[in-house]
Amino acid sequence: MSHPIPIPLTDRFGRVHTDLRVSLTDRCNLRCTYCMPAEGLPWLPADDLLSRAETTRLVRIAVDHLGIRTVRLTGGEPLLRPDLTALIADLAGLDRAPELSLTTNGIRLARLAPALRAAGLRRVNVSLDTLRPERFALLTRRDRIEDVFEGLRAAHAAGLAPVKINAVPVRGVNDDEIVPMLEWAIEHGYRLRFIEQMPLDAQGAWDRDLMVTADEVLARLAARFTLVPVPREGASAPAEEWYVDGTAATVGVIASVTRPFCGACDRVRLTADGQLRTCLFARDESDLRALLRSDADDAAIAAAWRIALLGKGAGHGIGTPEFVRPDRPMSAIGG
Ligand code: SAM
Ligand code: SF4
Repeated sequence: MSHPIPIPLTDRFGRVHTDLRVSLTDRCNLRCTYCMPAEGLPWLPADDLLSRAETTRLVRIAVDHLGIRTVRLTGGEPLLRPDLTALIADLAGLDRAPELSLTTNGIRLARLAPALRAAGLRRVNVSLDTLRPERFALLTRRDRIEDVFEGLRAAHAAGLAPVKINAVPVRGVNDDEIVPMLEWAIEHGYRLRFIEQMPLDAQGAWDRDLMVTADEVLARLAARFTLVPVPREGASAPAEEWYVDGTAATVGVIASVTRPFCGACDRVRLTADGQLRTCLFARDESDLRALLRSDADDAAIAAAWRIALLGKGAGHGIGTPEFVRPDRPMSAIGG
């Protein structure tokens, strides 16, 4: 039975949270240089990870009590979870089923796309930073670009539409592919978005001066294409989008660092080990797993969730003297 009326999840600044990012694992089968070191990271112990039933319960509480409407599954690499299809079926079967999407590196997508779609997944974002095999191997430290191409085709064919592609431009590595990648994405019917690199790599190597900014991306695109801004539907959508050359094709830029969208943030995050985070850059976490495993009832968990939101900061503050990187890297928070 659903909770009768979800009460919106608001913070001190009046922001209403309707989007939940759920990390399903901190492990990955790639080693993107801007994300984790070549040797990987000390992974979370298996017992610390939320089970499928625990994840489903937290999502049910989020939709029934707190007004969450969209859920994005991520990681680490979420396709590494053997129970992913079953979990998606569980989430899609909830009385107030949220709209379900997934962020993946695409490596295992060719095999899984039809089953994921059949289980109730609506859309995928696939991360791909280059079209060149040797660069892919350099950026991800694995020679797997063909698997990603196959995964993209399979996602498109399975109707996980629109297939979006997230690309992180890295100066001196792939920043000369900004225009070719958009030409290629349009040709294949994928929606490309460029993401500014954030100080969330495990190695702490991020350097603002090396980051390719949204302005630079746009300057390169504008030299080749005619871009017309897409009117923004929801103020909270982080991607600014443009129509390309008078067609319905679009390109997006997510300027998390240079044009932060914190004022309109509607996101809350759950790590694979059941810690609630109010922001990618939050310094605190709230331990929902401990509550889950101590027989707390749904109302108590929803109440803890609301209290956590009251601690959400106004913005990430990157570039201010007070900014301190979070203790966990992106791959362990859930990107
Ligand atoms: N493994 C999946 C993938 O790569 O799509 C999901 C997790 S990954 C952490 C999610 C997104 O975060 C990817 O699009 C990736 O490119 C991006 N990402 C990772 N580290 C980043 C960083 N330091 N700055 C900006 N984006 C980053
Ligand atoms: Fe893995 Fe995604 Fe991080 Fe790349 S960005 S190492 S695919 S978690």
